[in-house]
Amino acid sequence: MPQRVYKFRILGMALGGLPIAVVLREINAPIYSWLWWIFVCYLWPHVAFIVAKNSKQPYITERNNLIFDSFIAGSWAPLLHFNLLPSVLLPSITLADKVGSGIKNLWLYSLPFILAGTILFSFFTGFAFHPNTSMPVILACLPILIIHTLVVSMGSYQLVRRVQFQNIKFSKLSQQDSLTTLYTRRYWQEKATDLMQQCKKNEIIASMLFIDIDYFKEINDKYGHSIGDDVLLAITEVIKDSIPNTAIAGRFGGDEFAIALPLDHSEAKSLAIQISHQTNKIQIKSAHQLNCTVSIGIAELNTNQTILREWIEAADKSLYQAKNMGRNQVV
Ligand code: GH3
Ligand code: MG
Repeated sequence: MPQRVYKFRILGMALGGLPIAVVLREINAPIYSWLWWIFVCYLWPHVAFIVAKNSKQPYITERNNLIFDSFIAGSWAPLLHFNLLPSVLLPSITLADKVGSGIKNLWLYSLPFILAGTILFSFFTGFAFHPNTSMPVILACLPILIIHTLVVSMGSYQLVRRVQFQNIKFSKLSQQDSLTTLYTRRYWQEKATDLMQQCKKNEIIASMLFIDIDYFKEINDKYGHSIGDDVLLAITEVIKDSIPNTAIAGRFGGDEFAIALPLDHSEAKSLAIQISHQTNKIQIKSAHQLNCTVSIGIAELNTNQTILREWIEAADKSLYQAKNMGRNQVV
């Protein structure tokens, strides 16, 4: 954080110093005002950075530095004899930066420090009050106005882009299983619910396949976890190559896959047999002896099933029977 703030503070103080210098010249300011100007505009950014960088808690130190920036901003109004434009502009920009820092309520904590700076320095100037802003001062305010606005906008733009990018990434993560790239269980359930409702509404026959790898734990134990992953990927390829575009396929659990699709029971059975045969043919490069089989349970959507869970339970029951029949079966 100190590194990030450092360059903005150098820029901000240098740009803010311009209208201040013009006003100080106009009002023939005393030497202490000029010394404060030199400290604030040319020394303070480096002091703040060094202090924060060497601090044990750089974040908290930098937060305090940001609050001290507010005190500085408040000090200028009396030192400039309340010259209207810079006296309003500098604290406003300071407050806007506090909001933009993303630190919760920092702008609120800054308010009393702006006020403290204004009151304290008013005693030095005897509350001198000359609010008229001349054209040279207006012109000297333009660089900070323009550049600050552009820099803040660019920062917001980058932030918005990052949020958009992260949203896309997040929605991909929640929809796509990271290993197999099939739908995640949760997203599969959403899509399968949609399919179920569509099929019920339009009286289309649909079936669900539950596919579970046989003795997968043994495969992992015997050949290792990464060979186990290769098996999962190989079966995923078999599934992807076998199913039609209308199918909703997901990884339901560790070694369990689920497919919902608008096919009747016998068509679904043919598909299941095809997947089963293709799985038997899987050859894993570094584990030639490995024989891979799956058990598949099928359930056709029936009129009694009103929610997805009931359809899933029916498919799961068939899968359970396939396992009980000795595995490598379609039920
Ligand atoms: P069954 O024939 O009854 O299905 O027995 P099984 O061994 O296949 O079933 P079990 O549920 O006992 O084991 C599933 C195993 O899948 C256990 C778990 O370690 C493994 N597993 C789950 N997710 C992954 C994964 O992403 N990669 C690998 N390699 N293994 C996984
Ligand atoms: Mg299994």
